Amino acid sequence: MNPVKKEIKPLLPRRIALVAHDNKKADMLDWVRYNKGTLGKHLLYATGTTGKMIEDETGIHVNRLHSGPLGGDLQIGAKISEGDIDVLVFFWDPLEPQPHDPDVKALLRIAVVWNIPVACNLSSADYLISSPLIGSNYERALPDYEGYLRRPRP
Ligand code: PGA
Repeated sequence: MNPVKKEIKPLLPRRIALVAHDNKKADMLDWVRYNKGTLGKHLLYATGTTGKMIEDETGIHVNRLHSGPLGGDLQIGAKISEGDIDVLVFFWDPLEPQPHDPDVKALLRIAVVWNIPVACNLSSADYLISSPLIGSNYERALPDYEGYLRRPRP
């Protein structure tokens, strides 16, 4: 299947979701502190513990969801599928198994399904936040899944 692309309306401010596994929370905090000026112009969402840490340490308002292992990753995934998140910064830990590994995979998968920009480490997050597209009227291509939805039923 090669979906035809549609454009969706540009939207500012961006709705940015932030998630960091425990061993990556220090990286996330450093990154948010460094980019506080830019991030402060956008709407932030985060899993529970990541969001509380960011609010406590930087004073930036964050819309907090459940903690990741308690459903927060899935809440962010649901928001992506409903068109309510524009960017995902997800510092997942490649060296530790997580109790919610299936949720981690689901979140990464749904971000690709809906063509959301995703940064999974510091350098990609730096590239993403410094892109001129983050603050402009970029129109994200929205995959057209009509063909998939109309597929012959088994
Ligand atoms: P947390 O969740 O921010 O509540 O720690 C992160 C995650 O493990 O997905």
